[in-house]
Amino acid sequence: MHEFTFKNNQLYCENIRVSEIAKKVPTPFYLYSYKTLIDHYRKIKTAFREIKPLICFSVKSNSNLAVLRALVKNGAGLDIVSGGELYRARLAGADPKKIVYAGVGKKSDEIKDAIKFGILFFNVESEEELGEIQKAAASLNKKVNVAIRINPDVIPRTHAYITTGKGGTKFGLDFETVHKIFNWRWRYPNINIRGVHIHIGSQILDAAPFEKAIKKVLDFLKEYKIEIDYLNIGGGLGIIYSIENAQTANNFAKSVLPLLKKSGFKIIMEPGRFISGNSGILVTRVVYTKMTPRKKFLIVDSAMSDLIRPSLYEAYHKIIPVVVKEDSSETSETVDVVGPICESGDFLGKSRFLPRMVKGDLLAVMGAGAYGFTMSSNYNARPRAAEVLVIKNKFYVVRRPETYSDLVRGETIPSVLK
Ligand SMILES: *Cc1c(COP(=O)(O)O)cnc(C)c1O
Repeated sequence: MHEFTFKNNQLYCENIRVSEIAKKVPTPFYLYSYKTLIDHYRKIKTAFREIKPLICFSVKSNSNLAVLRALVKNGAGLDIVSGGELYRARLAGADPKKIVYAGVGKKSDEIKDAIKFGILFFNVESEEELGEIQKAAASLNKKVNVAIRINPDVIPRTHAYITTGKGGTKFGLDFETVHKIFNWRWRYPNINIRGVHIHIGSQILDAAPFEKAIKKVLDFLKEYKIEIDYLNIGGGLGIIYSIENAQTANNFAKSVLPLLKKSGFKIIMEPGRFISGNSGILVTRVVYTKMTPRKKFLIVDSAMSDLIRPSLYEAYHKIIPVVVKEDSSETSETVDVVGPICESGDFLGKSRFLPRMVKGDLLAVMGAGAYGFTMSSNYNARPRAAEVLVIKNKFYVVRRPETYSDLVRGETIPSVLK
């Protein structure tokens, strides 16, 4: 469920007409619903209330400060993957004791910053990284908590680019190496290895791969009598973009809760998309319509630089008119919705059956709240879109649209070229 619904042929975000916002904010812009965001966070919280897990929202899915603040204020922790995300987490007022830090390439300075801030856990992805954390902790005279990320070698049915818990991907460590690390715990006097972590992929629609991965990890811990107190089961819960039969938080809980309860560990979860995905849309305007012998195109003012998921993952996003016209059922036609970028891969949707749209009409690209703005770029020297958040009966521009001067910020022409 989400708060983008039609009333009298007008798309609303909560109680505000999207077309009204588009009169005041230039398109394209991302539009987020506070209520949807918090509802989805609470859905997970409620489904797992028996074990009170620490829910760390995955910052990389949507890192806008207002979005992070909203979740943090409602009790969420944060899952970060870089020094930049740590910086965002601090600005959002996150409790360091609710921050976990994953990623295969944490650099020494990033590690030191996170230690100084006092985060809950590093999710460690290699032996060299563990060595680096030991070094950093010793230099700061601190004792640091870590969890070891295990690659449980399971195959979730999702796109190859968002599969992370399979052998052969760069993520986590194989069971043998993890075992070795636990045997050699004493080598890391400034580190407390207190947990294990898995994150098997993203947009996973059923609980089976999660169950399998958790079982594998629990069996492993038992077999080698490895003592820890935290189990982090990662994120990856899939959502409905079109006709997916995605599990609900309750169904997911039904499958994995018994295992988690029995384990006795404190549980950490890292949902991203599940919380932010359907909390946001991308609002865009038709710049031109173009008829060709084979196809009709709607050329819109947003592009792969704003939302790369269709180009990168062959992802499907529903595209709908923001205002439904009276005669729309008679005029519907099949079109490709494309952006202005000079790449054939620049499209938001192909072969979409849409009411006839004309220059200036507004479209909404649905389910764009996760991996939308955060993956956007300035390709083709396009300023990035604004971000708008609806709270109660008001909307707030939580990131202004970029300007041309933003595009060249930090660039200089050497004097020899002048
Ligand atoms: C990306 C990521 C997540 C969130 O994944 P979703 O599919 O958005 O839930 C969680 N944990 C880690 C380590 C990640 O890299």
